[in-house]
Amino acid sequence: MSAAFKGFSVKLDRFATLCFKGGEAFLKTGSDESFNYLFISHAHFDHLGRSDAKKASAVCSEETLLLSTLRGLEVKRVENNPFTLLDSGHILGSKALLVETDRGGILYTGDVNTSPVEGIPEPCFPRVHTLIIESNYGRPGLVFPSRRQLIGEIVDYVSETVRRGRPIVLMGYPLGKSQHVQMVLDPVLQDVVETYVSPSIAEYNNVYRLFSMGISGKKVFTPQSPELPEGSWALYYPNVSGRNAFMQLVKRKYGAVFISFSGRSIFDWYSEALGVDKAFPLSDHADFNGLVEIVRKTCPEKVFTVHGFPEEFSRELRRLGYDSQPIRPSIEASFRL
Ligand SMILES: [Zn+2]
Repeated sequence: MSAAFKGFSVKLDRFATLCFKGGEAFLKTGSDESFNYLFISHAHFDHLGRSDAKKASAVCSEETLLLSTLRGLEVKRVENNPFTLLDSGHILGSKALLVETDRGGILYTGDVNTSPVEGIPEPCFPRVHTLIIESNYGRPGLVFPSRRQLIGEIVDYVSETVRRGRPIVLMGYPLGKSQHVQMVLDPVLQDVVETYVSPSIAEYNNVYRLFSMGISGKKVFTPQSPELPEGSWALYYPNVSGRNAFMQLVKRKYGAVFISFSGRSIFDWYSEALGVDKAFPLSDHADFNGLVEIVRKTCPEKVFTVHGFPEEFSRELRRLGYDSQPIRPSIEASFRL
């Protein structure tokens, strides 16, 4: 069914509104644009607009609805809508939005990942007329090692550290990254050391389990918890600075090794800035090559780039022969598709 030119508008996460009016489509940025649907690609905070959620019917996956509610968003989800949701491979419930029009598809990727992440369905996008793609790692040279190689290195490092009797703090974003790291390390650490999680990570673990993602049960650790044991243990904790007062206490008292998991650790400054002992660039985003591959496979006539490095990524796409232009959330502008 063609959804073209029906007079509706949909806000794409928090950054732009796609409008169909008078037989044409427009992409607009600016906070005062009205809209009647709100697409929530996934439940990371930078994609959730608290004030937007009350205004419109939300289009999102069941998983995102549940996670968004846990994160304090009041969302009225509608299942009957003119869109197609496609897997984006980023975290539990993450989706891309496809609008099928008479002139071809308009696809917004949300955050997207082309390297298979533990238990998360991989993206498979059709050819489209217009592609709106994230560019968090859209600068040439921002390329990750293969996930398989990286996971091998992580398993070796963690196993060796625990074997030497050192406690470890495994730091990552509490929703998504922490669960994916647990799925990698549960078989390594289970029955070897006592494992703990922060309250927020425990809460998101429960949602992953509700959707049949295998994460083992762990004790919940808070600064008010009983003391951690002597010798080796593992604690999953949000990506905070290793220099904050609590982490410094853990370091001093237990001699814990701080290990961070973030795509941003491909930047030289990362480990030093975060104050961790070791950082692995385990990312749930496509790297530069993965983003270019999505553009190649979807064969769009027009590409809009958002988030991260939109100018650099658009420049590279133009160099490769695509008609591409960046979008910045702060810019008031309107583009006719
Ligand atoms: Zn995200």
